[in-house]
Amino acid sequence: MTPFETVKSNVTARQVAELYGLKVSRRGMACCPFHNDKTPSMKVDRRFHCFGCGADGDAVDFVSLHFGLSPKDAAIKICKDFGLPYETGPYTPPARAKPKKSPEQIFKEAETKCFNVLCDYLHLLQTWKTKYAPKDPSEEWHPYFCEALNEIDHIEYLLDLLLYGDVSDRAFVVTDYGRKVIEIERRITEFRSSSLYGIA
Ligand SMILES: [Zn+2]
Repeated sequence: MTPFETVKSNVTARQVAELYGLKVSRRGMACCPFHNDKTPSMKVDRRFHCFGCGADGDAVDFVSLHFGLSPKDAAIKICKDFGLPYETGPYTPPARAKPKKSPEQIFKEAETKCFNVLCDYLHLLQTWKTKYAPKDPSEEWHPYFCEALNEIDHIEYLLDLLLYGDVSDRAFVVTDYGRKVIEIERRITEFRSSSLYGIA
């Protein structure tokens, strides 16, 4: 990473301000070092902003102003002072080796996903059950209302298995419904985006 990227992803304005001697209160206020400030009028967090003189910026800007350095030299100074590695050549993204997941992790992730999607679906079905309920006996049932009636018990049962079942119950749900879960997830997304536009 370049010095700028290294600073951006590792260091806040508050950290540099404190390292270079600024006293920052618990609420993130400090006396501004860039004008004659009697009461703390600078807010320092990820970035800094002075309500007195208008000084404003990120960690690099702070150091650049404070030490009169160019932004690049300020970024390099921060990297050095915080002991962060940086590259000075043209930026090449690091080749990231994917950490290998254990079978337990893979199962756990599939299980969590399954659970979340089924919960979402159940919630949606419950909404449909009231929202699309026929207003009078002669009215034809809305497909969403039928789906709610057909599916709610079943989905509740699957969620129960995931919550309270032993490993083999849970493995059954995850493997047998994995494909269906993806399908349900797609439908939920579709439904949500169509209801945004008032179609459903
Ligand atoms: Zn100021």
